[in-house]
Amino acid sequence: MIPFSPPRIDKAVIDEVVDTLNSGWITTGPKTKRFESMVRDYCGCKRVLCVNSATSGLELILRWFGVGVGDEVILPAYTYSATANVVIHCGAKPVLVDVGTDFNINVEKVGQAITSKTKVIMPVDFGGYPCEYSKLNSLVDSDHHRALFVPANDIQKKLGRILILSDSAHSFGASISGKRAGSLTDISVFSFHAVKNLTTAEGGAIALNLPEPFDSNNIYDFLNIFSLHGQNKDALAKLQKGNWKYDIITAGYKCNMTDIQASFGLVELPRYESDTLAKRRYICNKYSQAFADQEWAEIPVQNAENITSSYHLYPLRIKGITEATRDSIISDIFSHDVSVNVHFIPIPMLSFYKDMGYDIQHWPVTYDNFSREISLPVFYDITDDQINKVIDAVKNAVESNLKNTPTL
Ligand SMILES: *Cc1c(COP(=O)(O)O)cnc(C)c1O
Repeated sequence: MIPFSPPRIDKAVIDEVVDTLNSGWITTGPKTKRFESMVRDYCGCKRVLCVNSATSGLELILRWFGVGVGDEVILPAYTYSATANVVIHCGAKPVLVDVGTDFNINVEKVGQAITSKTKVIMPVDFGGYPCEYSKLNSLVDSDHHRALFVPANDIQKKLGRILILSDSAHSFGASISGKRAGSLTDISVFSFHAVKNLTTAEGGAIALNLPEPFDSNNIYDFLNIFSLHGQNKDALAKLQKGNWKYDIITAGYKCNMTDIQASFGLVELPRYESDTLAKRRYICNKYSQAFADQEWAEIPVQNAENITSSYHLYPLRIKGITEATRDSIISDIFSHDVSVNVHFIPIPMLSFYKDMGYDIQHWPVTYDNFSREISLPVFYDITDDQINKVIDAVKNAVESNLKNTPTL
């Protein structure tokens, strides 16, 4: 069976993790801090705080910005549930916007969804392809939308406009005009979950890039404490002789990254650009070449002038099929011993959100993308033989289904 996305765990990773275990320091410490500055240098943003997941990172920022009951947060209908769940946790309302054929949030529709209650926009770089940040950034910066913004606290007053909080769970290493994800908008949050491009088993990072007069070092210091109970001294600082006293300055969360997790990152980051991303690009290009002459194939756009994906997913779409035919194609692909996936079941189709009254018919492009989408395996250790096996399995499964089913 060809797996969908196993992590790369080689001797270098194992040695670094063992080194951490041998050091005796297994929670947040020197390795996490070193990994944070490496991520900052790689992304070109101002400061980076590592946390235990992208979900925690997104929620910490919503809480820091003071998002709560009565507020609205705009996000795409086509994303993983985490993007919407964190808005619910804060008591705010997720306002879902349809996506485009590139799977990313439709900026024109974002403009139409903004109200005086909008506090944050959370675009998602689907599959690693970055959203249109220059358009999003100028949208919230326009006189019209600045005038509409109603600040509810000092931080919101200081920004004076809607915050852009990018769900960059997929797009570590993606870039627009040479600027990498993390430096494309106000704040971006990466995921280092086991299936993501760069993994620390579980983990995430908050990339701070707010404009003046925000001081990223101050925000970092606050978020660091906010992610550790609100305690003003971390375990490392308390270790210093006689330094046992601490205070709680806010009722914080507990979502710090450990040095065991950071160990993965310290190995993965230096080889990310030249090795990991190069391999992912190679795999995706192989798929695109193989399907280019198939009439039924809608090849995903993964780079355009000045835009490069991080090749997190290979989201193939089959032209003119129904959701039921897509499901049947998927089960045929599995019968060829190839694992595939669908990214994602749209938010309005999940029970919790359906019960809240969301109805998928209001997001037609989201549904169309979803109903025809099949994500193919992309992982570092996949071989050329396996890539060819995936291609054959997909071609076989699609062709036999299209023969048996009338197209739309
Ligand atoms: C994986 C993922 C997340 C959540 O990441 P975690 O690190 O598991 O919290 C959020 N958004 C999207 C789009 C994702 O794919």
